[in-house]
Formats: sequence, structure tokens, C-alpha cells
Amino acid sequence: MEKIEDLNFLKDKELLSNLRNIIQLKKSFEENQGIIEVPLKHKVYVIKKVSNKRNEALLYRAYASLSRYLASNYEISELIVDNLVTDSSTVQVISELAMLATYSSKKQELRNVILRYLHKRDSSFLKEIDAKIDAVVKAKQMLNASPTEKTPARLVKKLKDDLKKVGNVNVKVLCGQELKDWGLVNYVARGSKRDPCVIIASYMPVKDKKPVGIAGKGIIFDAGGYNYKLRWIEYMKYDMAGAIASIYTVYAVAKAGLKVNVVGAAVFAENLISEDAYKPGDIIKSLSGKTVEVGNTDAEGRLVLADLLWYFQETFDLTYLIDLATLTGASLIALGEEVAAVMGNDEALAHALQNIGLRIEERCWHLPLWDEIYKEKLRSHFADIKNISPKPWGSPIIGGMFLKYFIKPNIKWAHIDITPAAFTETHTWKGEAGATGYGIRLLYEFLKRGSQ
Ligand SMILES: [Zn+2]
Repeated sequence: MEKIEDLNFLKDKELLSNLRNIIQLKKSFEENQGIIEVPLKHKVYVIKKVSNKRNEALLYRAYASLSRYLASNYEISELIVDNLVTDSSTVQVISELAMLATYSSKKQELRNVILRYLHKRDSSFLKEIDAKIDAVVKAKQMLNASPTEKTPARLVKKLKDDLKKVGNVNVKVLCGQELKDWGLVNYVARGSKRDPCVIIASYMPVKDKKPVGIAGKGIIFDAGGYNYKLRWIEYMKYDMAGAIASIYTVYAVAKAGLKVNVVGAAVFAENLISEDAYKPGDIIKSLSGKTVEVGNTDAEGRLVLADLLWYFQETFDLTYLIDLATLTGASLIALGEEVAAVMGNDEALAHALQNIGLRIEERCWHLPLWDEIYKEKLRSHFADIKNISPKPWGSPIIGGMFLKYFIKPNIKWAHIDITPAAFTETHTWKGEAGATGYGIRLLYEFLKRGSQ
């Protein structure tokens, strides 16, 4: 331990004296990672080495994996997270990933791994981590819960209650009759007895500055409607992951007290089958006045989002509009697990999100939305636009193109198809199976950078 002097930053005298008396290199965790065990009332771990080169991706995986290992093997343990790197933003990411990796699928809560810092951290550093972790944990709990227990009205009430606790957030809820002009939302929701709901959460601490808008798709359960899902239906409780992430991003930003204006808006509905359910061939007048032909009732996310995005642009003067949606299974086929697809009408915005995602390990990759190539695929003989293309080629892009049709030309907009990243079927280095809370940390960081 050549860097033993660093330990002088420690305030905890007991921990310090124990670390000075390191007695044993316990075992190698994975290749090149040494774990040092020190005698204390519980065990303290430090990763001695990850690789010779500075490699953040490897660092993140090492700390998160060790943290999950400790959480699942010990009642309580401590992990030192800033012995190999010290810069605040990297240590913040390590801390977040290490904490979230302890989340238990069975218990639906974080387990007990205490993160220790060798270097002094200011209060905002910890406050931010706490705000993000709290938001992501709440999102995971809500998404992993049984879909039958959830209704649009219950969800918006719970979200409203949570937002109230952080203060400074203005909340507006629209349900049932208040959404009578939202044609697309109403049609999608017809198959369910439960009325759709919309929640809008505004956090505006800075005077005379336009907010960033974050919209989210919230299909509580997506059976596909008459275009019933033949596969992956058991994961369809995660089809509201975008909506949950959009609202809990506002929650995290408000809880951390960032000086940035943001509005989150989410639409909740169920896409089920009943004698009242909407049908392929329906022609619907949207909130914008544009008409939509339904080619497939399972392409419902873009329908509810089209009304929400239109409302958002009509109601708020926004700097950016970003939507999060589990829109297509094809994005998972294209990019594989963990990596969302980002697209939109502003290259710089899409690339900013892509770069931030890489930095904080909520990755996304840019896809094109070229009008001259893709626009004609959504042509309808009966309405202004159809909700699917005749062939399934480029489905994530076609989903984005449909949304683009409802975006006003003067607004910088990005659509993130989060299907690949919103949930995981198996345990991964990031944590156990289930919802990931993807999007909250990504957009938090985007908003934070914009505020500086
Ligand atoms: Zn669907």
C-alpha cells in the first residue's frame, strides 16, 4: 500500500488505525483486482488495482461488481471507492453504480454496503448522489411492482405525493374528461376500464429562463391490444419506464436543489383487449388535429406520446424537449441489452446525450431520422399519417419518425428509445434483474451541465 498517506484524509480514527494495520491480502476478486481485508467490527474492502491504464469503464464494473458481491455475501460491509481515482465526477459515478448494484430484486431495496471516501467530499457531492439514488430506487420499486396493482390514477397520486416531499415542484394532473381532446390517448386506453392520466411536474428555481421538457411514455401494461403480443409480454410492466424516469428525474433534480428549470410530463394508460378496445384500421383525430390511421394496435406508445408531446409544446416554451419511451423491441435487437437508441432533429443534442451516457454508464447510441429516406414509410391513404410502416425494417427509426411528425420545427428535440436499457431479465454487473431506472441519471447529468 504505497499510497497509505492518503488515509490521513480519513476522519474516522478507528477505521484509519485499522487500515494502517492491514494484515492480509485476502483474495483476488477478478483478474487484476486485489481485495484487502482489514480487521474491524465489519469488513472493509478496497480494490487495489484494476488495470495498468486508466479505464473508467473497467473501474465502474469493478466497483459495482464488488459492491454487489459484498451485498449478497455479507450482512454489512464497507467499500472504499476513491482510492484509485479522486476526481469528483468519476467518484460520483462509481458511488452511484456501487450503491445501485446492491439493489435486491427479492426485497426491492438497497442492501447494506457502506461507501467510504479517503478524500474529503463536500455536502453537495453526497446530496446529489443521495437524490439520484433515491429517485432510481423509487423508480425501480414502482416498475417492478405487479402491473395489476397499478392504475393511472393510483400512479399519478403516488408520484404527486413523492414530488410533494421534495418541495418546490408544481404538479398538475389531468385525468379522464380533462383529456377529452387527447384522441390518441383515449383510443389507446379504450380497452381498459381505467381512465388514462397525465401528470406534469414543473421545477423552476431560476427566474426568466426557459425549462427543458422531459416527456415519458407510461403504458402500465402493454398487451399489444388486438395486435396481441406473442413474445416478451411478461416484460410489459416495464412499458411505463419512460414515464417513471421523466418524473423521477424532476424529483432528483429538485431534491438535489440544482439551479435548472425542468418540466417532466408523463402519460399513463393501459393497452388491453376488450370489446371496447381500439382496432387496427381506426382513424383517430389527435390532440394536434392531425389524423392517424392505426396500422397496428401494439404501436401505441407513439400514439400516446404524440398527444403528450403536442400538449407539451403548446403549453410550455421549452429550450429542449426530450422524450423517454420503451417504444420498440427492435431497438433491443439493434443495440443489444444496456444501450438505448437516441434520435431527433438536433445532432448536437443527440450527441450530447450519447456522450453523457457513455460517461455515466447509461449508454445510448445515435440513429438517423432522415426525412427523405423514412418519411414516406408512414404514408396513409386515409389519414395524415399511419402509426407503422408496411415492413418492419428500421422500426426504432420509424417510431422516431412518427413522433417527429408531431414536433414543431423550431424546437430541439431528442427521442430516446429505452427498451434495451429499461430492464434486464438477468443479473448483470449493474445489479439484479428487473427495472434499471434508466434515464434518470442520464437526464440529471444533462440538466446539470446545462445549468453550469
Ligand atoms: Zn406496444
